[in-house]
Amino acid sequence: ASGSNSLSLPENNGDTSSSSYASARSFDDLPISEYTKEGLLASKYVTLTAIQRAALPHAIAGRDVLGAAKTGSGKTLTFLIPVVEKLYRLKWTRRDGLGGLILTPTRELALQIFEELRKIGKYHELSAGLLIGGKDVKEEQEAVSAMNILVATPGRLLQHMDETPGFDASGLQVLVLDEADRILDMGFSSTLDAILDNLPQSRQTLLFSATQTKSVKDLARLSLSNPEYLSVHSDA
Ligand code: ADP
Ligand code: MG
Repeated sequence: ASGSNSLSLPENNGDTSSSSYASARSFDDLPISEYTKEGLLASKYVTLTAIQRAALPHAIAGRDVLGAAKTGSGKTLTFLIPVVEKLYRLKWTRRDGLGGLILTPTRELALQIFEELRKIGKYHELSAGLLIGGKDVKEEQEAVSAMNILVATPGRLLQHMDETPGFDASGLQVLVLDEADRILDMGFSSTLDAILDNLPQSRQTLLFSATQTKSVKDLARLSLSNPEYLSVHSDA
């Protein structure tokens, strides 16, 4: 089917190491670890979706990304792969603590992201946890400090930042804001500000949103540095 496709392709920023991947069509073409490739293959992921094609080369190269693409376009892998790869390249171990943080508006979305991470990350040694509330905060607290990657809803994450002894985000490498417009619509703006205040400045940030409202732009200004803007509209 030939849908209307307007797609911002990655530009060559004079960085030859990433430009050669700008035309990647399959996960196998990407400069990622064999562990991740095996995880993707086991999940039967082969061909990149449009947003993955546009954003993954930039995100894997460590740049901040502001991505817009509708629901169902494959945004989850667009941020999970860069998070896992960043920590893999840094030889992150359990002892290194929190390296990747993924914020999403609802518990259901957090669970889906966590399940996807378990599938594609299963050949890596990284630990991952889910902070979504609904169960005893004490139970979560014991696990929190041992996790390399956390998938969380904003309110619950801030609660742990405030209340959990030993919670340490000072080594964070990558922050993901998934469905940023919905996070803001749900009234989490000041929660996000407080979370951002607790995170190190020198980190990579990947922000995804279905719409570009003023509040999303404000959040982007606050949280991203020199981002690549990638917008994909496709009925494919
Ligand atoms: P979004 O977050 O943009 O709404 P998801 O990341 O949840 O989209 O992906 C939507 C669906 O597409 C999921 O079922 C996911 O497994 C599937 N999917 C994602 N990327 C690919 C791909 N490259 N090839 C095949 N299926 C994919
Ligand atoms: Mg999603």
